Amino acid sequence: MLQEQAPGTGLILGKAGDLLNWSRKNSIWWMAFGLACCAIESLMCLNTARFDMDRHGGLLRNTPRLSDLMLVAGTLTHKMADITEHLYEQMPEPRYVMAIGGCAINGGPFYYDSYTVVRGVDKIIPVDVYVPGCPPRPEAVMFGIEQLKEKIIARGMIE
Ligand code: SF4
Repeated sequence: MLQEQAPGTGLILGKAGDLLNWSRKNSIWWMAFGLACCAIESLMCLNTARFDMDRHGGLLRNTPRLSDLMLVAGTLTHKMADITEHLYEQMPEPRYVMAIGGCAINGGPFYYDSYTVVRGVDKIIPVDVYVPGCPPRPEAVMFGIEQLKEKIIARGMIE
């Protein structure tokens, strides 16, 4: 990170890639993609005063073209699969996906054996963070955001 101070100056030295990643992890613009009850129980809480994604630099956007992170919450049906992929393709790189709840992770506790249900969002698009639960508590989603931040720093965006 930005840890070196140039001797005898007020300058702090660091790599441009580290600076970029630092700013990325602290300004994650997110798109809510709610498909079922997890969207109400977990996702909507993020914008409330109690959890307040804004203080983590997160900003809710309603378009994939301005979003870094897609939060998929709920049951993904085959009918929605193409739309999900299409939304993902519209997001600029680097883009991230979080699967929230059992349904988004593997089809869920109730509908996993239905012919209409995709058994996990990662069958359609790559997922970076999984937040298990039915539904997960909002605190778990916030923890997932912190895990994503670590992943952003570890991944290195400029090769
Ligand atoms: S994991 Fe549970 S709460 Fe979440 S969408 Fe599925 S059934 Fe609903």
